Amino acid sequence: MTTVTSAFLSNVAIVGAGIAGLACANLLAERGVSVTVFDKARGPGGRMSTKRLDQAQLDLGAQAFTARDPAFRDAVADWLASGLVARWPIISYQASPNGWQLHHDPHSRYTGVPRMSAITRYLADSFQTHPQTTLQLSTRIEALQRSPKGWQLQDAQGHSYGPFDYVVLTTPPPQALPLVAPWEATLAEACRARDQRSCWAAWAVLDGPLPAPPGGQSDWQMARLEHPALRLVSRNQTKPGREQQPESLSLLAHLDWSDTHLEDDPQVVAESLWAAFAALFPPSTPLPERINSGAHRWRYAQPSTADDQLYLYSDSGLAMCGDSFTVSRVESAWVSGTQLAQALIDRSVHNRA
Ligand SMILES: Cc1cc2nc3c(=O)[nH]c(=O)nc-3n(C[C@H](O)[C@H](O)[C@H](O)COP(=O)(O)OP(=O)(O)OC[C@H]3O[C@@H](n4cnc5c(N)ncnc54)[C@H](O)[C@@H]3O)c2cc1C
Repeated sequence: MTTVTSAFLSNVAIVGAGIAGLACANLLAERGVSVTVFDKARGPGGRMSTKRLDQAQLDLGAQAFTARDPAFRDAVADWLASGLVARWPIISYQASPNGWQLHHDPHSRYTGVPRMSAITRYLADSFQTHPQTTLQLSTRIEALQRSPKGWQLQDAQGHSYGPFDYVVLTTPPPQALPLVAPWEATLAEACRARDQRSCWAAWAVLDGPLPAPPGGQSDWQMARLEHPALRLVSRNQTKPGREQQPESLSLLAHLDWSDTHLEDDPQVVAESLWAAFAALFPPSTPLPERINSGAHRWRYAQPSTADDQLYLYSDSGLAMCGDSFTVSRVESAWVSGTQLAQALIDRSVHNRA
């Protein structure tokens, strides 16, 4: 087996332009490392992506995030000051068919302005201001190859990229497994050990405002639900920067329900989740009509259990980070990417000394 000399960090490939990959890319680029970020999607964001329709923009992944970690809190303070994020929701409810009750959240939560994906777009633009850094979109990485010069990445079209002295994988573990399995038994085992849950996220754009819910006020912004199918509803037009768009709901399903309905048709899922929401109003209440609806399936939405590993890396030049080995939260993913970048820099400095 050939040996990769990865002691000196100069050129890193990152697979995944979600918040973990972009946080990792930014810190590495700031320290003078050449970084190329690959993503199979047409834009950065991953599970912080926003669906953009003619009528409305709807967050279909993360809805609002916390900032408990001190380093992430500092980053969020900068983003707040520049208007990239804002506090949201201010008014949230706990809802069931028996009525709606105001929910007092002990944590401040934030969202991107004017959409959640503005944060990852900002991070992508930031790291590309450094020389020798690239964001390569619409590129699905399907295999890794090792040579004495470093790692080569191969995409679905058969193109090859590299050599890189480190490859950082930020994809959910089932998508990282085929890449690491030929090279690193320990990382492959870690991927196999992290079970992932699915989540359906539906949307509905309405032709008028919703009436006040039973027992609640009409200015509610987000509701957590006690319902077997539906767990959370967000009103996107109440998010800062989207006040001009019509009533536009994100309807997130429960994980158990999503696993059971994994192979359902998206439009059938959209109907089921809308029906679950409509049932929270008395049958006599007229609701506005839907002018656009659908559903997106997150096959790998979140790990089934929380763990405390922020990142993994091997001496051969492979690393993994993201929310997969810790808690499924925006802030955990950011912390994971940032701390992995710092660990790789520290390792490189140590090896040079
Ligand atoms: C429905 C839903 C609701 C959520 N709600 C919240 C919330 O309210 N608050 C909160 O804090 N967190 C929430 N989360 C969790 C949060 O979104 C994630 O923890 C976080 O966005 C994960 O970021 P990441 O960078 O680790 O992974 P991702 O964002 O998944 O990024 C991984 C990237 O890898 C790319 N990729 C995968 N395979 C390949 C390949 N072979 N080649 C190239 N690219 C590839 C993907 O396209 C993706 O962009 C939610 C998640 C979901 C799904």
